[in-house]
Amino acid sequence: MKKQLFIVITTILFTSFNMTNTAFAEDAISEELSKAEKALVPIAAFTASGNISKLKESLHQGLDDGLTINEIKEALVHIYAYAGFPRSLIGINTFIAVMDERQSQGKIDKAGKEASALPDDFDQNAYGHKVRNTLVGRDISNRTSGYPVFTPIIDKFLVEHLFADIFVRDVLNHKQRELVTISTLSALPGTEPMFKGHLGIAMRMGYSESQLEDFIEVLRERVSGHVADRSALVLAEALKTTNPKTISKALEVTRKTSPVVASSEYFTGRATVESRFTSKATGSYGGGTVNFEAGARTAWHTHPVGQTLIVISGRGLVQSEGEAVQEILPGDVVWIPANERHWHGAAPDSAMSHVAISEPLNGSGVQWMEHVSDEQYNK
Ligand code: MN
Repeated sequence: MKKQLFIVITTILFTSFNMTNTAFAEDAISEELSKAEKALVPIAAFTASGNISKLKESLHQGLDDGLTINEIKEALVHIYAYAGFPRSLIGINTFIAVMDERQSQGKIDKAGKEASALPDDFDQNAYGHKVRNTLVGRDISNRTSGYPVFTPIIDKFLVEHLFADIFVRDVLNHKQRELVTISTLSALPGTEPMFKGHLGIAMRMGYSESQLEDFIEVLRERVSGHVADRSALVLAEALKTTNPKTISKALEVTRKTSPVVASSEYFTGRATVESRFTSKATGSYGGGTVNFEAGARTAWHTHPVGQTLIVISGRGLVQSEGEAVQEILPGDVVWIPANERHWHGAAPDSAMSHVAISEPLNGSGVQWMEHVSDEQYNK
């Protein structure tokens, strides 16, 4: 499937999703799902399909990949709302067996945080409506047709139980919950309309098109080719209705968004990224503004089809491997050829901001390597 969305400085911590202090924080968000996110996919899919031996493997993998015990418990509980108590309880019993095995092997796993206590006056109805409206992207509190009218009780259960009692538990955030949901539905043939709807919700919660394509790849590698193929068809349908490229026909001003801190895995010092963009017409290029504090710089990296940098403020440095470090100033335009190992950043005594523009190849716009050492930087 053609990748249409991408991010130039791909690997950015998306702090607005409240992912700190969990395994998810260790993995930067990029075109791919993080390691912890990937680990959730087969756990949910095999719980939903009831494949206990594969579920066992996935649970071991999830713990090895940094999911906490409580995050996995929470995912297994969440699944009951989508796959039923029998699947969920079998999943939980399987997890108990896996925990016993690991204990006898002397493995120590992180318990992780518990759900925060709720206020005494927690209003399930109000909270549930608010959550559901946010997930679906419009106010559906007062529908006048369909199942909420025919069977109001199930709407009450959805609002007050699923979207309040369950969703309020902050062991998993709403974005992570949607990943568990789409992974569950991927393994439940016959739920395609819901699956498609939840893929749209997953995008609304912050997953990019590329990350959902990566989700399909994770299904292919860790669940089954059949589940991946079926899911790819549903994703293609979902993208037709939610892809901004197909619905954006008017002139658009996108306001500056709050800066997102760049991942320390790929940056030294503090850098932030804001005002990210993609070509609306073809999706062939994209980028964003990167702000480096004095001394901050990217790790060594390459771009598969090159990169353009436009310096907009401060004083910076750029280096191609084996060549001298060059100073860059506001107004300078830097072209980095395809597959050229390089880094860019601020000068030691000055901040620097640049706009970065690049094109992806097979869905990837950057390949990250090791950090630029102080010795290399100070040359
Ligand atoms: Mn670069």
